[in-house]
Formats: sequence, structure tokens, C-alpha cells
Amino acid sequence: MLALQKVRPGAGVELRAIETLNSAPPGEVLVRVHSAGICGTDLHIAEWTPGYEPMESAMPVTLGHEFSGTIADVGDGVNRSLIGTRVTARPSTTCGKCAACLAGDEDNCSNRKGVGIGRNGAFTEFVCVPYGNCHALPDELDMDIAALTEPMTVCEEAVTTADVRPGQKILVIGPGFIGQGIAVLARAKGADVVVMGRDDAPRLTALQAIGFEHLVDTTKVPMDEALSKLGPFDAIIEAAGVPALVQATIPHLRKRGIFTVVGIHSRPAEIDLVSLVRMHQQIRGSYRAPPQAWDKVIAFLAANQSMMSRLISHRLPLADAMSGFKAAHERLATKVMLQVGGAA
Ligand SMILES: [Zn+2]
Ligand SMILES: [Zn+2]
Repeated sequence: MLALQKVRPGAGVELRAIETLNSAPPGEVLVRVHSAGICGTDLHIAEWTPGYEPMESAMPVTLGHEFSGTIADVGDGVNRSLIGTRVTARPSTTCGKCAACLAGDEDNCSNRKGVGIGRNGAFTEFVCVPYGNCHALPDELDMDIAALTEPMTVCEEAVTTADVRPGQKILVIGPGFIGQGIAVLARAKGADVVVMGRDDAPRLTALQAIGFEHLVDTTKVPMDEALSKLGPFDAIIEAAGVPALVQATIPHLRKRGIFTVVGIHSRPAEIDLVSLVRMHQQIRGSYRAPPQAWDKVIAFLAANQSMMSRLISHRLPLADAMSGFKAAHERLATKVMLQVGGAA
């Protein structure tokens, strides 16, 4: 079967033929992949930005951690009646053996492995995942939309961390898929949402198409001027990973406002803490969502399919994965969905 793999440390990914998987180990299921999205993490891995060195021991490893598919076979200990179930899966797998796992604190597992990062992922026809990581999909949920579950759980967690409430004014920095998803979920909570980007016309246009009116492109208008008009904000959620934008936007945060960092920053940010103290503001970080968030997000996706479908900018066969990576890298894409196909 064809697989998009990280073969060696350094820049690049390879589309190569690998042996077809046809069974799952004990406790796991074999999923025939239908759709798998390319995300920022995949781009970082392809470019080999610092922080992914631990992947080296898993190479060659198939990438792809945002996916949907159908259970094609089950390993020992998993009920065979699950074959045919349409699922998505939490990519983060835990070991069940370390001190944290044994204490029931799986979130702090010291041997965590990500599907599509530390173990084989979904940019291929078949992937194995622990059955406990799977979430069943409602019949009416389109498989491409279902593959948005993982990134949308990151967005859901960000909106929860930021404590977004009805009637609040929220600024989302960065119109990539995570920023877009945060905007969508914050709006669904009744907030008034502004999204800011820089040189991001295709991605801001996608937001406009789903009804967002307050969009700021700082290549066209000075940032402070635009934010002064639209703010101040009860919460700012940062999903751009640009350190300088933290301090540059905090002056537009209300007293007692919450600044939530979601982007991965390659450098430290300099922040005026005196003003932060006097304004009684908070800075919070937000990362992986708890398992309970998954079914909530799946229900949201099922109820909002036509809107979410407009955030998938490219649908490509696996064989065209390289051009999908290129479009995502050039920020032309909102979300590239690789349609591996096969599932009913
Ligand atoms: Zn991702
Ligand atoms: Zn563990």
C-alpha cells in the first residue's frame, strides 16, 4: 500500500510503497482509512523544525493523525461485531504500564506515542489504533468532516480554556484551520468574534464565506488601528505561533481579560508584566483536549456539516499528497483532506 512517510531526520517526506497491513495487535483495531487531513504538525515534521527529534526512533513512520475510517479487523480482546463501524480516533496513545497510567492519570503517561508521529499513522490505506482510542461516528456524518474531529478538539479545548461566554468579544489571532475552528466554536457559544491574519487572504476569505464579518488582514490595515476599532476584547486566543503578536495584542485585552496561547512558538515572547499585573489579566496555555471533548465535537460536526465542509479547501487523492503539503505550506489551503478512500 502507498504511504506518506518520514523516512529520516531532516527536511522532507516520501510517498512510498510499504507492506499492506492486514491485522491488528491485541487490543487494537485495523482501520481502513477514508480521509486524513494534513495539519501544521505534519508541515513541521516535513520541514523538520526542532522538537520532533524523538520521532527518529520510529522512522520510517507513516504520518497522518487526523482521520476517519472503518474498522476492517480487530485484534485479540476486541469484539468482532465492531468490524464495519465508522470511527475516528484520538491519536495520542498511552502505555498502560507507567506509574502515571497505573495511577489512572493517563494524561501524564511517560510513554505517550502519537499515531502518525511516534507510531504509524493514517496517510495510507490501513492504520492500527488501540480500540480504546476510537470514537464511533454518526451515520449521517460525512467522512471528510469526521476527519476534522482531532483538530476541532484542539479548538474546543482552546475555547474552554479561554472561558468564552455569550456576548463576549473575542479576538482570534491566526486564520489557519485551528484559528478558524476556534472562531467557529466561539461564535457557537454566542461570542462576537474577530479574526486577524497577515497575508492570509484565502483563509480569511474562507471565514467570510461562512459568515464572519470582522476580519482583519494586517497587510492591508495597521493592526492597532483595526483592533482599537473592534476591541477591547474579553479574551484573545492566539493560534499563529508568532511570539511578537502576544505583546502587540495584549493592550487590546480588557481588564481581567484572558489571553490563551494555542500556537506553537519557536522562540520566547517578551511580555510587559507590569501592565499585565495592573490590568489583572491572565495568560493561559491550551493543548490536547480530554477524551470527553471528542464526542461533543463529533456531535457539533454532524450538526454543522455544510459550514465545516467549506473549511476544507483541498480534497486530494493520497497519490497527490506532495502537492497537498505544498498548498498547506504556502498557506493557500485552509485544510487539505487526503481522500484515501475505500470505506463504505
Ligand atoms: Zn493535527
Ligand atoms: Zn503510561
